[in-house]
Amino acid sequence: MGWRRQERALAVLLIGALGAWEPACAGPNLWTDGTSISTGHSNRGRLRRPAKMPEKGPGYEVPQTWRSRGNVYGVEELVAAVARAAHAVLNRSEKALLGVADLSPIAGGRSRWHRSHQSGRDIDLIFYAVDDEGLPLDPPTTEMIHYDAEGKAYAPRRTVYTETGWERRRFDVERNWRLLESLLADPSIRIQWIFVSEGLRAQLLDYAVESERPTWAVEYAKVVLRQPADAPPHDDHFHMRIYCSRTDRFHGCVDRGPVWHHEKKTFKYSGAERYDPVRWRMAMALPGLAGFH
Ligand SMILES: [Zn+2]
Repeated sequence: MGWRRQERALAVLLIGALGAWEPACAGPNLWTDGTSISTGHSNRGRLRRPAKMPEKGPGYEVPQTWRSRGNVYGVEELVAAVARAAHAVLNRSEKALLGVADLSPIAGGRSRWHRSHQSGRDIDLIFYAVDDEGLPLDPPTTEMIHYDAEGKAYAPRRTVYTETGWERRRFDVERNWRLLESLLADPSIRIQWIFVSEGLRAQLLDYAVESERPTWAVEYAKVVLRQPADAPPHDDHFHMRIYCSRTDRFHGCVDRGPVWHHEKKTFKYSGAERYDPVRWRMAMALPGLAGFH
C-alpha cells in the first residue's frame, strides 16, 4: 500500500472511533497493531512480524541442532508462553532445562523438516529427562531421544544416536507434567493439540491423578494430549499447536480440526471470545472476501 506506519495507525484509530470496521475492508495485514500475525493453515500458511525464540532464557535453551536450522520464529503469544512455562518449571526444580526445538521459519511457509509448522503456531518441545538416579539431565544437543511406554530411552530400528549417554535417559514424568500444566494454565494461548505417544500420555495422566493435580488440568490434558494418527507417534518430543488468536483470525489465520469446548469459552486478554469458527468460515467463502486467505 505504501502507507507510512503512522498513517496506518491513524487510520486504525479513526476507523475504530467511527465504529465503521467491516471485515470486507480489511485485507490481510492491512489494519494491525504491529504485532505478529499468523495467516492461513498450520500446514499451508505464513507468518508476519514474528517473535524470535531467544537462544536461551531462564529454564530453557534452543539446542545447537535446532538453533542452526533457524526455525525459531512464532507468534508472540506462543514464544512468550513457552518461555513462561519453562521458567515456572525451573522455579520448582533448580536444574530443569527445557529443550526448545523447531517453531517456524522466519516468514513461515514450508520447510524441509515439517509439513506443518508453517504459520508460527506450532512448536516442538524436547522432553525433560532424568538419569537412572532421577537427576535432571540437560536436553540433547544433536537429536531427540525416543522413549518407550515405560519412559526408558530406546533407539528405533536404523537409528544411531550421536548423543552420548542416551541409554541412561528416562522420561521425566514430573517435570514434563509441570510443563504441560503451566502451558494449559496460560491464559494467553489456547491449545489445540499436544502430540505425544499413547504410552507417555498414559504416564503423564497417571502421574497427574496420583499427585492430585487440579481436575480441570487433567481433563484439559486428556482432550489435547494425543498420539497423532497420521504422523510419527511423538515418543521423542511434544508437538504443541495453538489456535489462532482472535486478532489473527481477522487477518486470515485459519484453524482446522476440532474446536474444543475450552477454546470456545476461554478468554483472551479481556472479554469473551466471540469467534464462531463455522460462521467465520462461511464468511470467508463470500465473494466479497475472495482472496482473503
Ligand atoms: Zn512438530
